[in-house]
Amino acid sequence: MSVLVINAGSSSIKYQLVNPDNSEVIVSGLAERIGEEMGHIDHTHDGETTSLDLPIADHKAGLQKILELFDEFGPHLGPETVRAVGHRVVQGGRYFDKAALIDDEVQKLIEDLIPLAPLHNPAHLSGIKVARSLLPDIPHVAVFDTAFFQGLPDEAATYALDREVAEKYSIRRYGAHGTSHQYVSAKVAEFLGRDDLKQIVLHMGNGASASAVVNGHAVETSMGLTPLEGLVMGTRTGDIDPAVVFHLARVGGMSIDEIDTLFNRGSGLKGLTGSNDMRDVQDGYAAGDKDATVAMEVYVHRLLKYIGSYTAVMGGLDVLTFTAGVGENSSAVRALVGERLASLGVKIDEEKNEVRSREPRVISTDDSRVKVLVVPTNEELAIARQAMDIIGA
Ligand code: ADP
Repeated sequence: MSVLVINAGSSSIKYQLVNPDNSEVIVSGLAERIGEEMGHIDHTHDGETTSLDLPIADHKAGLQKILELFDEFGPHLGPETVRAVGHRVVQGGRYFDKAALIDDEVQKLIEDLIPLAPLHNPAHLSGIKVARSLLPDIPHVAVFDTAFFQGLPDEAATYALDREVAEKYSIRRYGAHGTSHQYVSAKVAEFLGRDDLKQIVLHMGNGASASAVVNGHAVETSMGLTPLEGLVMGTRTGDIDPAVVFHLARVGGMSIDEIDTLFNRGSGLKGLTGSNDMRDVQDGYAAGDKDATVAMEVYVHRLLKYIGSYTAVMGGLDVLTFTAGVGENSSAVRALVGERLASLGVKIDEEKNEVRSREPRVISTDDSRVKVLVVPTNEELAIARQAMDIIGA
């Protein structure tokens, strides 16, 4: 039995058919450039990728084509093969502290949350509507990026903003990447064989976020109302003085939309170096390039600030875990962070740090006071498992 996981973006549909029991990825694929003159689909089955260039008018046409590809290469998607469809949803607002079986009411709530996630929830919603109409006999489950952080303590979730304004516009810190932080922190507990842990998880991909997790519960996270706050990311600023917005508007004459685009798409590593890819930044840093050096220092400095403050908030730190593209692959970034955390009792073992693997692993020395781990994240598998939990399978 398998779960179809769908991550519908504004112009793309990412999908995976996974076996939630043994983690096997049966089929994976990506339909992109939906709505443009020419679209593209990569559909991978049994290690073979079929690539198609074709116009994809909308999400409905995209999903229809994807179902045809399943029919052509197998398996046919129906209740006999697919136990549930799990939909990734970025914003669950105050409504969802866990995944939810999608009915018209849940669909309506996701729609109501559009103002809080104008770039993401409309796309998820069209993915959900289309998938429900094309696969009506399979239960659909929404898995929210914010759910793991719904239980954040008030002091972590609350901005020091006028209370009435915050209430009226639902402004609080919702966090994001929750599915990954939950999955990875649970893996850490399982791997170490204990739950009573003060953990920091660093999810460093193109988007990046940190979380503090005590005994399995999130107590802090770096993303806020939206996934813009916090760490330095591929193309996002992370933390920045909000007055920069006023300054750019008043002095730079920029519109709100221009500033939004600048902060979300033209900043972070890309803004500092021209590339949002940490591999380029690392190469430049190793070669002594000035921009790359500044970018790397800013990136690592921000990580250190979060690790230090979360350690203070939790009153200690047992485990520090790296995950996602940069966290799993960049031994250089891990080494830099480790070196500078010596005062917290972190010691990274150079040899272990260089090991490449898809398995969870310890990279700290035996006498390191804080255990340092690398744990590959797997958001699709986490979504599939949450979907199974919700339908009670
Ligand atoms: P997303 O946030 O889009 O899911 P990923 O978690 O896949 O992204 O992370 C993508 C990032 O991982 C890229 O910016 C890339 O620079 C980085 N990355 C991948 N491999 C390496 C590597 N070997 N060294 C450093 N960074 C890497």
